[in-house]
Amino acid sequence: MTIRVPFALWAPFVLALAACQPASEGEVPDADRAEVVAEEPGEAAPTNETTAAAEFDALAEALIEEMLALNPEWAIRQGRYENAGVMTVPDAAYRQRMLEFIDSALARLERFDPESLPSAQRTDHALLHNRLESMRWYQEAFRNWQWMPSTYNVAGILSVLLNTEFAPLEERLQLILSRLEHVPAYYEAARANIESPTLEHTELAIDQNRGALGVLDDIADELAGKDSAAFDPEVFEDRLEAARDAVSEWIGWLEDLQEELATDGGARPFRIGGELYERKFELDIQSDFSADELYRRALAEKERLHTEMDEMAAELWPDYFPDEPMPEDGLERIARLIDHLSDRHVALDDFVDEIRRQIPELEAFVREHDLLDQDPDKPLVVRETPEYMRGTGAIASVSAPGPFNPGAETFYNVTPLDYFGPELAASYLREYNHWILQILNIHEAIPGHYTQLLHANRSPSLVKSLFGNGAMIEGWAVYAERMMLEEGWGDFERELWLMHGKWLLRVVFNTILDYAVHVKGMEREEAIGLMREEAFQEESEATQKWRRITLSQVQLTSYFAGYAEIYDLRERLKREQGDDFDLKTFHNEFLSYGSAPVRVIAELMTEE
Ligand code: ZN
Repeated sequence: MTIRVPFALWAPFVLALAACQPASEGEVPDADRAEVVAEEPGEAAPTNETTAAAEFDALAEALIEEMLALNPEWAIRQGRYENAGVMTVPDAAYRQRMLEFIDSALARLERFDPESLPSAQRTDHALLHNRLESMRWYQEAFRNWQWMPSTYNVAGILSVLLNTEFAPLEERLQLILSRLEHVPAYYEAARANIESPTLEHTELAIDQNRGALGVLDDIADELAGKDSAAFDPEVFEDRLEAARDAVSEWIGWLEDLQEELATDGGARPFRIGGELYERKFELDIQSDFSADELYRRALAEKERLHTEMDEMAAELWPDYFPDEPMPEDGLERIARLIDHLSDRHVALDDFVDEIRRQIPELEAFVREHDLLDQDPDKPLVVRETPEYMRGTGAIASVSAPGPFNPGAETFYNVTPLDYFGPELAASYLREYNHWILQILNIHEAIPGHYTQLLHANRSPSLVKSLFGNGAMIEGWAVYAERMMLEEGWGDFERELWLMHGKWLLRVVFNTILDYAVHVKGMEREEAIGLMREEAFQEESEATQKWRRITLSQVQLTSYFAGYAEIYDLRERLKREQGDDFDLKTFHNEFLSYGSAPVRVIAELMTEE
């Protein structure tokens, strides 16, 4: 949910995909139960829509339970801890078990004719089908488990168990102890899997696994001096030691590999090319656009924004530079003004307080302008990002309870900027200036991610809550920014609109560059030049973005894909409904289906 810096932003997606693959040694899905469910729909064809719906819901629930059991890491991230002590060892036997599950699950799904199901179940059917196809494609065609060493890291989940207070610390330490036993086997399987990786993901894996050693140290600190009846601290120490050795060996092995690839060649190029890109786009984004169509749409949006921003810049110029003639070049005018306006920002020490101050204002604006339903019983808690989460480099993020834990608090994590050191902090303050900070809060909090997730958790569909569509989630937050400005947040101030233009250009360029680099082979220099000159980005921002493009694929397009589809849907309904169109009704209904793909929601909303 993070908006700013690389990892927190997309790491969850990477992890979610990795999580589709591993499962646990020693943990067998509840086969008996699966069989019972499997037989029902096959034996007697459902007699009517209601029966079919109930039977489909039972199958969906059974499939989800099997997935949770097959994949304890994914379960933990969703807030289910029954198998949290079981660590998935990502070996060939595991992949085989996963494929068998996929085949069986698809066969069971195919016993239902989606057309005969009510719309809610029909869309759940489509989502489950897509998820299963996607799991198979990642395993058999994309094969990132082979060339992406950064897929392998035990620390993320250990850190969740150590820091999330779902149970007393002693119980969580027991789960950690039980997982630690399998760390050596885990990295042994990882080594066996790797085959001509990319240099970029090899370097990332080295970096991130160094971080894993830090998490093991944190566990050791937590354990120090504990005299537990629940476990033997000596066994714990031994397992921690073995885990440290396994992580260090993995790092050493990767360093040798990195050197070999750098000198002798043989590394896989990070660009995935057109064919894999289109299919990945189809499976991950689930959009009505193809990747190529979205790319062209983004190019057109860039032109529109440049024209709009240039008009604003021309109007603003005399206010800020009364004695200076306006530059001939439109892009230069915009760049000069953005640079000038960026000096207006909060003091370093006020950053977190200012965010905290704005949240009730946003809440009141949404209420007074009747934009959508909010839930006063579930306030958003603004807090400084906990230490263990800061390593991601994110400035702001939202930690929301999953569907299994709807009563838990939602946190808006903000990292105090001095954490980044004086130089970076100064540049972040300019970037998150007076205007952009408001847009950030709209995006992350109200009515962006926080509000959307509150609605999603009320959605009765577990399928839609669990297989949340990233493009819908990010698209909603980006849509919310523009919608708030359109409804008068900031009182139509031109400076705010100009800054919003810059902010939206970033999203537009995420799409343009991800496609241009991976599919059309654009080089680093050209990409960075475009970000600097046409999207008005700082050097550091552009180089960070380049790195992210080399490490992820398609995910960067999700923001613009979702935004464009939501905006199109709203405009279409406005045209069709004329005077009957009501913005609040549109928002509430749109959000009521959970985090489903926009095209699925559009289908549900426009159905007779
Ligand atoms: Zn976001």
